[in-house]
Amino acid sequence: MKIKNILFNLTIIAVSVLALSCDKDDESGKPKITIIELGYDNSKTVVAGTELHLDVEIEAPNNIKTVKLSIHGESSTAIWEFEQVYTEYEGKKNIDFHKHIDIPAEAAVGHYHLHIEVTDLKGYSAEAEDEIEITAAK
Ligand SMILES: [Zn+2]
Ligand SMILES: [Zn+2]
Repeated sequence: MKIKNILFNLTIIAVSVLALSCDKDDESGKPKITIIELGYDNSKTVVAGTELHLDVEIEAPNNIKTVKLSIHGESSTAIWEFEQVYTEYEGKKNIDFHKHIDIPAEAAVGHYHLHIEVTDLKGYSAEAEDEIEITAAK
C-alpha cells in the first residue's frame, strides 16, 4: 500500500513536470530579435549607392528555420524594394545576423521600413521592424 502511494505520487510529479515544461515552451519559445545597429553607428540612415550595414541578434530556443529580411518604401515614389529569405541559419539557436545590403544609386530618397521575420523549426515566428532614411549621394 505504501509503495503504491509513492508510485502514485511519483506519477503525479512526473505529469506536472511534463505539463510545466510544455507551458514554459509556449511562453518563451518564440524567437527573439534585437536590432543592434541599423546603418553605421545605428544612424538609421544610408546613402543611396552605398551599403546598408545591419547587425541583428537573433535567439531562437527552438532553432531557426528561416530569416526573412524586407525593406520597402513608404511613399509611392519609392522605386526600390528588397526581399530575401535566408536559409543558411537553419538549426542554429543564436546568431549575429550581420549583413551589408547594396542600396542602388537610383533608389528614391526617403523614408523606408525594414522588417525582419524569423521562423523557427517548431513553426513559431517573430517579427521586428524599424525605419530607415535613404539619403541622396553627396
Ligand atoms: Zn557591417
Ligand atoms: Zn512596413
